[in-house]
Amino acid sequence: SKLNGKNTFAVFEQGMMSANKRRLDIANAIVSALKLDEFSLHYQAKVNTNEEVIGFEALIRWHSQELGFISPLEFISIAEQSGRIGLITHWVINKVSEDLASLQEAYGSDIVVALNLSANDLKEPGLFAIIHDAFTRHGVTPEAVEFEVTESAFLENFDYANQFFDQLTHLGCSIALDDFGTGYSSLSYLTKIRLNTLKIDKQFIDGIGVSERTTLITKTIVEMAKNLNLKVCAEGVETEAQKDFLVDIQCEQMQGYLFAKPKPLSELLPKHAA
Ligand code: C2E
Ligand code: CA
Ligand code: CA
Ligand code: CA
Repeated sequence: SKLNGKNTFAVFEQGMMSANKRRLDIANAIVSALKLDEFSLHYQAKVNTNEEVIGFEALIRWHSQELGFISPLEFISIAEQSGRIGLITHWVINKVSEDLASLQEAYGSDIVVALNLSANDLKEPGLFAIIHDAFTRHGVTPEAVEFEVTESAFLENFDYANQFFDQLTHLGCSIALDDFGTGYSSLSYLTKIRLNTLKIDKQFIDGIGVSERTTLITKTIVEMAKNLNLKVCAEGVETEAQKDFLVDIQCEQMQGYLFAKPKPLSELLPKHAA
């Protein structure tokens, strides 16, 4: 009936409004979150084929007084769309720079700590200077830092992105292409940009032993990376069977709940003797 249609629309509209309201609330809360020190970093280990820790990925966490725990899957895109991602990225760069020395002390000076950059970060002309400044203030060796970016970082202004990543490379940092295989033009980028590492997206790892085709594609990506002199890292490794296959095809870096979940820094450092 007409009445039902109207009610359905009202419910739909209300749902839209509360979704928009939440986005707005989150966007507004980001600024105060920095003042209230609500962000934190978790670090997830990356291991080699011997399951030795070779580095970590920094992953941001937000426990908001006002809104509770909010996943980066939700707030990073809101931060991007509301022009606030730069504030978050600066905070992450500084925090990683601050934490690096204690991770190196506990796991060796050869470890590499990765942080995620958003495509929108590249719209900020001063980003390289901010990174350089944070490294200088905290005595960071650039060789110990890797930047994970998706190919979307190259979409809007390819020449600028390439020049920015070249600057980081000259400084000594490495660049990883994140979520590899999920975009639609990944292979063409591989011919044009200077990269150090390919991170194979979890959806390929999930398919190991499940889908014959996905298993074969995963193997092919690892072979291709080796032929291109790139390091390769499998993300989201959860089972022994996935690990066994990845070791078998000599995927040199692995990351996933099978080895370690993301953890706060304090849980990754040796406890001080009483
Ligand atoms: P990502 O960069 O692809 O990171 C991998 C995500 O998979 C992380 O989720 C990680 O906790 C999760 N993960 C790792 N191993 C496993 C596993 O074995 N199984 C499963 N199911 N998940 C696993 P998280 O921390 O929720 O982050 C989600 C996304 O948010 C990240 O995806 C990244 O795109 C973004 N993100 C996180 N931290 C930052 C940050 O500091 N800056 C920016 N720009 N983006 C960030
Ligand atoms: Ca990542
Ligand atoms: Ca991913
Ligand atoms: Ca991602």
